[in-house]
Amino acid sequence: MRQPTLDGMARTMTNTMHAIAVTPKQAGSARQVELPRPEAGAGLARMRVLEVGIDGTDTEINKGEYGEAPPGADVLVIGHEALSLVEKVGEGVTGFQAGDLVVSTVRRPDGCPNCRAGESDMCLAGGYTERGIKGAHGYMAEYYSEKPEFMVKIPPTLRGFAVLLEPLSIVEKATTQAWKAQERMLWQPARAVVLGAGPIGILATILLRLKGLEVHVFAKTAGDSLQAQVVQSLGASYGSVDDHPVAGLRDELGQIDFILEGTGNSAVAFQAMAAIGTNGVLCLTGVSGGDRTIEIPSDAINLQMVLGNRLLFGSVNANRRYFETGVQHFQQAEARWPGVFERLLTRRVPFQDFNAALDRRPEDIKTLLTVATG
Ligand code: BGC
Ligand code: ZN
Repeated sequence: MRQPTLDGMARTMTNTMHAIAVTPKQAGSARQVELPRPEAGAGLARMRVLEVGIDGTDTEINKGEYGEAPPGADVLVIGHEALSLVEKVGEGVTGFQAGDLVVSTVRRPDGCPNCRAGESDMCLAGGYTERGIKGAHGYMAEYYSEKPEFMVKIPPTLRGFAVLLEPLSIVEKATTQAWKAQERMLWQPARAVVLGAGPIGILATILLRLKGLEVHVFAKTAGDSLQAQVVQSLGASYGSVDDHPVAGLRDELGQIDFILEGTGNSAVAFQAMAAIGTNGVLCLTGVSGGDRTIEIPSDAINLQMVLGNRLLFGSVNANRRYFETGVQHFQQAEARWPGVFERLLTRRVPFQDFNAALDRRPEDIKTLLTVATG
């Protein structure tokens, strides 16, 4: 028997829920599926998902380039950036109650030393799972259940934009790691370059401006785009890569202490090596699932890296510490640039129109799939 529900979605059975899933490695396979509703068993809380952010990883998964189903399953429920309400807490759960706003982390540990130390973002063995990405169902569903250790409580004042916490956690980690690595020397960074003006690039700009750096953002979008306007409202400069080739940025700007590569384009990542200044750092954050190859001036780059004590490193994922510092930075940045985070939420798509949400448009910054209102 089909039962109409409050959200207008018909159900064929009770105790089930709707979710958006793909068949991993099969392009364009995203579809609505009906799955058992997760239980709030002992030690678990059940969340009612409010909204889910879409990113490049979701798009790559739906292109069949990335993603892995949970063991024994044919499909993978996607979505790894979700803002939810705790609906029910199971026996033994402390610290959370029904009605709390939550963003859960993405990665789940294996038994390696790094994972055991609470740093599954630094997993050594590769046996980790990632909800919505690798070996574990994600959050693009009406409900999910989770252990409190992976749930981050969100103050109600952040309701309007806390769905950005997961992408913010990525740049929290990248910048924290860069600053930590630079403890290898006396380092007084003054100028940063951010490549890409998607959510990662803009959120990185926010953190770097909070640190007091001069920030220059270069991306593909036009100089009068919303991306450019937001960047400029943060007191950073915006330039199009068409007019400012990455390899020439050091001549144009002078010493560049820190570069964050947030385009996900591996060719840009290699060009950026030529732009890092003396004692500077280049942090790569793009997950490039493709198989592009390019030719590079390897002698010149090698010489520069060595003679300038330059540092190049990659950064992926984020453990809960970075979600927690993200909550603090949300508050600081919102106080300094009121409304800035909400400007990044450029499109809200109803659950049934998930395909339109997965389709990325040039004017999009962050697209949200609305699952429930609350
Ligand atoms: C997610 C990370 C994840 C990475 C690699 C990104 O889109 O934000 O949490 O570790 O993809 O799968
Ligand atoms: Zn591990």
